[in-house]
Amino acid sequence: MVDKIDSKMTGLPPLWLNRITTASKNIGNSEEIRKLLGEPIPRPADLSRLKPEIAAMFAGGGVLERIAKKLGQLTKRKHKKIIASHNTIACVDDENALYVGVEFLEKFGEDEDLLAAILAHEWGHMISELPKGKDWAHLTWDELLELRREEEAYADGFAGRAVYMMGYQTDSMIVFLKKLNRKRNPKLPCHKYHNTATRVAILKASFEAQEKAFETAEKIFRAPKFINQG
Ligand SMILES: [Zn+2]
Repeated sequence: MVDKIDSKMTGLPPLWLNRITTASKNIGNSEEIRKLLGEPIPRPADLSRLKPEIAAMFAGGGVLERIAKKLGQLTKRKHKKIIASHNTIACVDDENALYVGVEFLEKFGEDEDLLAAILAHEWGHMISELPKGKDWAHLTWDELLELRREEEAYADGFAGRAVYMMGYQTDSMIVFLKKLNRKRNPKLPCHKYHNTATRVAILKASFEAQEKAFETAEKIFRAPKFINQG
């Protein structure tokens, strides 16, 4: 039932899983939920054994901390640290520690637009909250999976806006999502995410909405009444 390629190749939110299994204490099968909806925390990598250019990305002034700092400023939510990890793209735990995959960075680490979008998606999980007023103990699998997709859609929606605000583009992320989609086994449908077309549409729409909001604000501030007051 669990799509192996998907769970390996896409960032899954242990943070969210933790919240949901806490909220549903009396379900009694929280382990099963974990297996169905997510993955365990990734295995940390030994920094001293990484290629220097990959290790440098995790350093204080490295690209990951730089992007994380911007996201922290945007959201007033600070991450704890960034941990080099194996067999993941990126995920965040319930203490706001970020895990970023070294294999992913070896392949895509030079694409800063992509790194920004990936981290922004994780930030989306960091700031999201579980829907209130749900009877967590009595949700069906379908309802749980629907909530899981909503959570991912929220993270993508936040990512689109944040990418714009940080001055990056969403194109790299869109190409990346399409690449992941091609690697997926079509016989194993993915229940955790909306389909790729929907995810791309969410990213684009939220990026454009933020762009529009800024343009509108600019127009208002540049209107003659403001200029004349100066
Ligand atoms: Zn996610």
